[in-house]
Amino acid sequence: MKGKPLNFTCKEKLSHLLSLKKGDELQTIRKAWKEIGALECPDCGCKDIVTPTLKEKPPKYKVGDIVDYGWDLKSKYEWFIYCYNCKKSAPYTYSEIDLKLLSNDGKTFRGVCPVCKELPPALSFNKNLGKIKITEVFKIEMDKEGVSYHRNDESGISFKEYDFIKDFAIRDGFNSKEEMFNCFDKKYDLSTPKEFYVYRGIIT
Ligand SMILES: [Zn+2]
Repeated sequence: MKGKPLNFTCKEKLSHLLSLKKGDELQTIRKAWKEIGALECPDCGCKDIVTPTLKEKPPKYKVGDIVDYGWDLKSKYEWFIYCYNCKKSAPYTYSEIDLKLLSNDGKTFRGVCPVCKELPPALSFNKNLGKIKITEVFKIEMDKEGVSYHRNDESGISFKEYDFIKDFAIRDGFNSKEEMFNCFDKKYDLSTPKEFYVYRGIIT
């Protein structure tokens, strides 16, 4: 086992993550920088927050790494419920006696959804979702307009492509490229272009 687990918390992608099975591809996009905040203003020494600078960081995983992935791994809860009615998830906080609310294989939850209070089909799942073997790592640049990337093919030639964005968003588990851009803009502010690492792997 190498590296830290890949943690997912993006709600738009949960149903996609839960649908993956052995042999499927998992793609994820992670920021390629860290923020270095100035502790004090170099001019007057005041402690007012100075706009942090972005410093490039190396990729976390490399091709061949076997990596655990999971849902909301920092949560104190081990089990979650995903509701097919409201498309939301909630920690499974029922006591042991309520285990009868789970099907025999433990995968289907038959109780009332804690979010929408309906009684729809719902899935119970452990936050540790499985392992992937990393097969591709490359860097992209994303802004509100699109995604571009340079990849070195076997001849070592660097090229740039703009027409793969929809495929790219779908592979990442989003329903559309608009959903992907909105999600990243909200989280990382794409009014200026930002660099990200793309990791692709196969569920093992
Ligand atoms: Zn629900």
